[in-house]
Amino acid sequence: MGLLTLGSPLSWDETYPHIDYIKKHGIAQFIMLYHRLKGRQGDQLKWGDEIEYTIIKYDHEAKKVRVSNRAEELLNRLRAEEEVNAMVGTENRFLWRPEFAAYMVEGTPGVPYGGLMACFNVVESNMIRRRAEIVRLLKKDESVLSISFPSLGAPDFTVPKSVVTPEDPDGAGRSIFFPDDAIFGGHPRFKNLVKNIRGRRGEKVCINVPVFKDTNTPFPFLDKLPVPDVDAERNAKPDHIYMDHMGFGMGCCCLQVTFQAVNVEEARWLYDQLTPITPILLALSASTPIFKSYLADVDSRWDIISASVDDRTAEERGFVPLDKNKFVLNKSRYDSTDCYIYPCSVGYNDIPLEFDKKIYQQLREGDIDEPLAKHIAHMFIRDPLQVYRERLEQDDSKSTEHFETIQSSNWMNMRFKPPPPDASEIGWRVEFRPTEVQLTDFENAAYCCFVVLLTRVIVSFRLTFLLPISKVTENMKRAQKRDAVLNGKFFFRRGLANCDTPPDMKKTANCKTPDNNDVVEMAIAEIINGDGHEFPGLVPLIRQFLDSADVDVDTRCTISQYLNFIQKRASGEIQTLAHWMREFVHNHSEYKQDSYVNDRIIYDLCKSMDDISKGISHCEKLLGCFRSKTEQLIPSAVRRAEESLIVGKALRKASAASKPSTNNTS
Ligand code: GLU
Ligand code: MG
Repeated sequence: MGLLTLGSPLSWDETYPHIDYIKKHGIAQFIMLYHRLKGRQGDQLKWGDEIEYTIIKYDHEAKKVRVSNRAEELLNRLRAEEEVNAMVGTENRFLWRPEFAAYMVEGTPGVPYGGLMACFNVVESNMIRRRAEIVRLLKKDESVLSISFPSLGAPDFTVPKSVVTPEDPDGAGRSIFFPDDAIFGGHPRFKNLVKNIRGRRGEKVCINVPVFKDTNTPFPFLDKLPVPDVDAERNAKPDHIYMDHMGFGMGCCCLQVTFQAVNVEEARWLYDQLTPITPILLALSASTPIFKSYLADVDSRWDIISASVDDRTAEERGFVPLDKNKFVLNKSRYDSTDCYIYPCSVGYNDIPLEFDKKIYQQLREGDIDEPLAKHIAHMFIRDPLQVYRERLEQDDSKSTEHFETIQSSNWMNMRFKPPPPDASEIGWRVEFRPTEVQLTDFENAAYCCFVVLLTRVIVSFRLTFLLPISKVTENMKRAQKRDAVLNGKFFFRRGLANCDTPPDMKKTANCKTPDNNDVVEMAIAEIINGDGHEFPGLVPLIRQFLDSADVDVDTRCTISQYLNFIQKRASGEIQTLAHWMREFVHNHSEYKQDSYVNDRIIYDLCKSMDDISKGISHCEKLLGCFRSKTEQLIPSAVRRAEESLIVGKALRKASAASKPSTNNTS
């Protein structure tokens, strides 16, 4: 979830006097890094997924399930093994990192996947073994699920039991529902973020999620407050589930994919092209219909996290006239991006951007081109929340820590990531961040492979999916609605468009200006599977790409299974987890049609999900009948064959390039 640095974190009041200094140096660091590394060429596609997991514990006698705050203990063991491997020179197959909550862990492959097509066949196997690695450390009655837990903040939702301390002046969150003990305690970052977000905002965060109104839901629905609380009395809205802690959002789990681009131009281009795809994936992966044990009227976590880290002051939210702050800001620091960053795309930037003129000037004087300067300056309207006393003074030519502290706490649907200052093997990268984590590794692998294959299609066919960026913001809203995948309509490009200009950052003259006739509203099924006349569909495009690629039989079979599955999710033949969970609750004998999902239902729900996730039972409604041919390793014959094809292609390209072009008459 961001930068993990060691040191003594500063409180908000201590940070305040250093803000301008940190921003100025953060920008200087970015400028130096950019110029030092902008010429990097030829990095190959490498990519990796991040899966966040929730550790749970069953009480089979009481028929209850709780989150288990044992992440720190498990991580200590996993990290110790990682270090031993590193010392003896054994490759780590997985890497484990802390996440926001004391009951969460995050796992990634130990080394990134490469550009070979055969890599798509090892992803799921890596995820399966990764999960097994954590499972072996669990105690009796514990389990690990890749879900956002539906009862966060409900009475007594953790083991060990922990109490809320809303009156404690030193408390991090001071929530009336979510105890600070449920925040990961093994690193100061997390509690400090909670505290500083509250400090900057000037009050607790406030999350109101529309409740799902069932036949017996009280009208109006007024959320129960366990103790009287001034903030709650002021902020809780009728007909909404009310929550007041960062953990309600950042304690949810997701699935992210980061990939390395060939160079900075390609990274910027892909950032833009994938931005309009993010709401589509959010709707298609919807998995979070229950919050604090109530059925919500949304299917995903997005707006909840957004509100859970919303550090804007009342002035910045537009409730009182500006005085101490400089801008009214429309979005939280966790939200969708407001601007494209590739020069050709600027015509589609129709959201007015707030940024500090001085910072923008610093970037422009540092020779950062206009679109990128605007993106960085706009991110830098957010203040640093994580500053370490010992690390204020830095060598801006070597460190990017001040830049990263702001970049890594701008949690947007996409992230453009410069290479680290000190690791030469990592290039310019882009992170795709909205996807809700799926219950099974088959699904998680399918979503990841889909996104990565889509990047290959975009790059190979130079497709463009750009929409006016305000339409992406609107699509993110639509994507969260209940059953958006079945009923929602999304702005999307009419027909297929490709960008015929070469990826030359300096040429923007030939770029098409947006035309309203290019944008239509489509259902997810039409976007994924095609609309039957103008738009061929993302999956058919991927298939077309695969037909021209050299893929071994097993990998092709696995990819087909993933794509068929995605197509059926899109068409509604297979349910999203959100839909399936709602149906489970509605069919449960203890459900009283009043939106409340009691302990027993949550217990049965988690057990059913656990059985599906472990493969003990198969749920066709959720998964269809697909099975991949995933393998632990790429067979060496396949690797050799693919590598020699790549070398052959490169040689043919090089020799073609060295011949005089026949069309060139000059
Ligand atoms: N858990 C957060 C989410 O569900 C993401 C945190 C991160 O950026 O790693 O989106
Ligand atoms: Mg994470």
